[in-house]
Amino acid sequence: MLPTLSADERLRYDRQIGDGVLTDEGQRRLKGATALVTRVGGLGGPAALALAMAGVGRIIIAHGGDLETPDLNRQLLGSEAGVGKPRAEQFAKHLRAMSRFVAVEVIDHEPDDAEADALARRVAIILSCPADFEHRLRLNRAAHRAGIPFLDAAQWGMAGSLLVSDGRTTPCLACAYPDVPPFESHFPVVGAIAATMGNLAALEAIKILGGAGRPMWGQMLVIDGFRGETRHIRLTRRPACAVCGGAPPATGAKISSSSPSTRVLGA
Ligand SMILES: [Zn+2]
Repeated sequence: MLPTLSADERLRYDRQIGDGVLTDEGQRRLKGATALVTRVGGLGGPAALALAMAGVGRIIIAHGGDLETPDLNRQLLGSEAGVGKPRAEQFAKHLRAMSRFVAVEVIDHEPDDAEADALARRVAIILSCPADFEHRLRLNRAAHRAGIPFLDAAQWGMAGSLLVSDGRTTPCLACAYPDVPPFESHFPVVGAIAATMGNLAALEAIKILGGAGRPMWGQMLVIDGFRGETRHIRLTRRPACAVCGGAPPATGAKISSSSPSTRVLGA
């Protein structure tokens, strides 16, 4: 049974219920949903903020470590006053200050395999925003095992990517990257592209949770902001994929034979 909306909530969401946005039922679906966002830096921070402002009822954020000065070119949930302090709790405080209608849970570390699986069983969707493939692929596996939608956002320099999987029938992150690419820990990134990809991930999540629009299932959107180019890649499911290879093939999805040739993007 879907939750109802209070008069205050109806006023808050007045501009996003109607033609071309959410239905009343869709808004109630958002309220009844739980989303996991990990991590909540340059990509996941804007994503979590957009989910909170849109009215996703419960948001679980996971991020370890302390906020550092170089984070402040992109981690918009932080502030100069928070440098040297743990990220997760101060970021949650910011989210709670933005909306009293949303519950925010904090995990002050990166989930391991068992914790990722347990979280995936609790939530309706995972927004994967870590920098490294180890964590991104772990979240991808957890989402697929739970059969829930999985959005993976990544960035490098002035470029970003967003993969949208339904966690069941569409190609997964491991299909897109069958060999784990080398990880560059100190890569360049501009906050504007991080926020762009994080917000696009949130938009897909809002569409999926709220039953609005047409999610980009099985696709990777790549934005090369440096060159001013954007493209959609229809991902190919790999029958030998270690994560989703045993599941039935996508139905109704146009699958091309091309593999994503995008640059490896971190977070
Ligand atoms: Zn796969």
